[in-house]
Amino acid sequence: MPEGDTIFRTARSLGRALTGKPITAFRSTYPLLTRCNDDAPLVGQTVVNVESRGKWLLIHFSGGATLATHMLMSGSWHIYRHGQPWQQPRANLRIAIENVEFVAVGFRVPVAEMHSAQSLARHKKIPRLENDVLSPSFDAEAAVQRLTACGKEAIADALLDQRVLAGVGNVFKSETCFVAGIHPFAPVASLTREQVQTAVATAQKLVAANVLEDSPDQIVTYRGVDRRTTHDSDPGANLWVYGREGQPCRRCGEPIQRQLQGTNARVTFWCPRCQTMPGD
Ligand SMILES: [Zn+2]
Repeated sequence: MPEGDTIFRTARSLGRALTGKPITAFRSTYPLLTRCNDDAPLVGQTVVNVESRGKWLLIHFSGGATLATHMLMSGSWHIYRHGQPWQQPRANLRIAIENVEFVAVGFRVPVAEMHSAQSLARHKKIPRLENDVLSPSFDAEAAVQRLTACGKEAIADALLDQRVLAGVGNVFKSETCFVAGIHPFAPVASLTREQVQTAVATAQKLVAANVLEDSPDQIVTYRGVDRRTTHDSDPGANLWVYGREGQPCRRCGEPIQRQLQGTNARVTFWCPRCQTMPGD
């Protein structure tokens, strides 16, 4: 599943291709979307802006509607100039938005909903702007309060809850706990207020560092001095702990551990020496 940084970058690219330009064509294989388009045609409207909210991508139209898409595992948005060959077969097209320069294609996007401002605000799954770690209006103090309210829940699970902190995916979850020096299985209630604040600040910093203009496609939280031993095929090459089970901790040398965690059995990595349970 793409993490918040990936969706943010997609939104930024789509925004550059679409914002402010009149829509010249819209089509979709989803009957609900085409019906919305029949009722209030998007052709002639402009895209006001494109934003990410956690793992949702929102395209706001000048007529007031918003197209909300969620990629889950399979979906992706591509931008092509007219006549440029596509990287996926036409059969994968679910949504296409065109202007005179570009066509934005949503391939195999599994979740696509057209919303009014009201229905968007009422939506239970689309995070609020101020909950998104990549939003300029991100409210860190409110995030600390939501996280604290998770009580007995393990910190790593709480970090993944998009209603608590939108934009943190499974890689950033483990990386945040390591950088913050917090054991991923520690109940939130066992942490000090300062630790919870550190967890929020660290998550925001790590995700934000991966959406800079020159960021590579893969997530980077660790920039070692000796890069000769790392290979691109190694998923953990640029990370502190994720994907590094059994390899020595980059700080203390202890072997990194791996365990499935939470009701969704998401994989978690940590250093047993650098990240101790409160009270140990
Ligand atoms: Zn360590």
